[in-house]
Amino acid sequence: MSIAHNLNHIRQQIDAAARAAGRDPGTVHLVAVSKTKPMPLIEEAFAAGQLDFGENRVQEMKEKQPLLPEARWHLIGSLQRNKVKYIAPYVHLIHSVDSARLLAEIDKQAGKVGRQIDCLLQLNISEEDSKSGLDEARAGEILADLDRYPHVRVRGLMGMAAFTDDQDLIRSQFRRLRRASEQFATLTHPRLRMEILSMGMSGDFELAIAEGATHVRVGSAIFGTR
Ligand SMILES: *Cc1c(COP(=O)(O)O)cnc(C)c1O
Repeated sequence: MSIAHNLNHIRQQIDAAARAAGRDPGTVHLVAVSKTKPMPLIEEAFAAGQLDFGENRVQEMKEKQPLLPEARWHLIGSLQRNKVKYIAPYVHLIHSVDSARLLAEIDKQAGKVGRQIDCLLQLNISEEDSKSGLDEARAGEILADLDRYPHVRVRGLMGMAAFTDDQDLIRSQFRRLRRASEQFATLTHPRLRMEILSMGMSGDFELAIAEGATHVRVGSAIFGTR
């Protein structure tokens, strides 16, 4: 199957899931996760109208972005502080902020290149040790401290559900992220807007949309298994 066909199919599933949840399909954005996939496939997706791409490693994004600078590049994987400088000039959205120290480094590098970088705080909603992310209390502390990071805008939250067949469990974890977002939305700060909920992957994006996802990160269902 062609990439264009897969994209079209996913988009239809996204739209149907949104409508089933009583939501406007236009409020759900697709980030095509292109990690490990070669440029020709990414270019095929871009030619089919896909603008947003997600990578989980800086090194890989650094190699791919100059070949397709018109795309919007999202960093979705864990980010080491010493690598922030490589993506600061162009990264569209960092989904995976999991510490105040990382946010401070993003702020510093964004300042150097004269940008404000949009970020999401990643919450560990599955409570699996293997998954990184903040708990709600720590995220709240970081948000209360946003004055310290003038070159950063926090636009919402990101989370990953457990790898399980238990749909109720997955849904409850997505619901936890939405509730955290609703709670943080009561905070007021000029560089804080809880408008993005990045949750849902190839196996669970429909559940995520039912629980309010605004950005789904879909890889293998578009580009094939890795
Ligand atoms: C790989 C990855 C995805 C996409 O996973 P698929 O199952 O291939 O859709 C989404 N989010 C993150 C953080 C990832 O690392």
